[in-house]
Amino acid sequence: ITDKIAALPPDSTYFSLEFFPPKTQQGFANLQARLSRMAQALRPLFVNVTWGAGGSTSAKSLALAELTQRSLQLTTCLHLTCTNMSRKLVDEALEQAKVLGVRNILALRGDPPRSEEYRDETNPMAEEDDSNKDFTWAVDLVRYIRRQYGDYFCIGVAGYPEGHSDQSHPEHQSVDHDLRYLVEKTAAGADFVMTQLFYDVEAYQKYERRLREHESGLFKTIQIIPGLMPVQSYQILRRTTKLSHAALPNEILKRLEVVKGDDDAVKRVGVDIISEIVEKMKSVSNPGPRGFHFYTLNLEKVVTQILERASLVPPATPTLDVAYGDGDYGQAV
Ligand code: FAD
Repeated sequence: ITDKIAALPPDSTYFSLEFFPPKTQQGFANLQARLSRMAQALRPLFVNVTWGAGGSTSAKSLALAELTQRSLQLTTCLHLTCTNMSRKLVDEALEQAKVLGVRNILALRGDPPRSEEYRDETNPMAEEDDSNKDFTWAVDLVRYIRRQYGDYFCIGVAGYPEGHSDQSHPEHQSVDHDLRYLVEKTAAGADFVMTQLFYDVEAYQKYERRLREHESGLFKTIQIIPGLMPVQSYQILRRTTKLSHAALPNEILKRLEVVKGDDDAVKRVGVDIISEIVEKMKSVSNPGPRGFHFYTLNLEKVVTQILERASLVPPATPTLDVAYGDGDYGQAV
């Protein structure tokens, strides 16, 4: 991923799309068709495949990574969590990623299973191996990957523009509190930072400025990729922002409250809102290309509308390598 970004012109933009593995075969077949359409029409720089906490979706996540990396030739970033995961399961996931040709890992700690997209209750793995003490924090996984694989994998880590909240900790952790651990993860060998979703652009920009100016100097030029989630419905938006502790600015809330009974209108206004966020962020200078990460919720229509509206889709060229300016990347490494 970082090599592909480095090959882009400095003032260009790029984006990534995140997908979670469907639970059923039918769901997988539907996603396969959708992904193939989206890859052709939208040309993301890379795609992300989520990992169920505790390894609960391991087989399905790897099957989806096989589809994106091998069959669709999309540069794939496989998420990998480490809490409640045995070392054996971590090793198997990394080995399998390597076999599939996946070169990018988002190294995460993970939460106890909670949200739908990360959970698969039918998988017995979810209940196993919770005695493992090899990995407590994401930094343990970053160190482990570097120790076992050197520079083979490009490693991303999670950042939290409005602090971190999770089930395992009763109190919300402030940006101040969380920052020292982001420093640790980056110093341990992370290559890029991908953020939690947000709707408050000022809060994000403040966070990014803080990182860029950090005394460690670690974040001066590293790619910090802001995470955006399209608005699927008013209820889902309220729930996800509450869980992730993301503020909903009044101006945004007001626009959505007016149409909250009409799902189609909510989606339409949501497309306006996210496209405006992208436009606003594009105008702020960034060292190197400016990227955007979309938590797609496996949706096609609203994501496509946002990308088109915000002019993020790179021009169609005969091969992707030309679109991204370097012949080496046509093979999606
Ligand atoms: P860490 O960096 O380990 O931090 C976790 C918390 O502990 C933070 O509050 C931090 O401040 C604190 N902390 C860290 N180190 C220490 C220490 N040494 N001492 C004390 N406190 C410490 N979850 C999934 O299950 N599957 C996914 O696919 C997934 N994808 C994600 C993608 C992105 C871009 C993001 C932002 C999150 C994703 N998550 C996913 C959620 C993530 O697993 C949770 O937010 C989890 O609670 C924290 O993971 P982390 O990697 O940030 O952990």
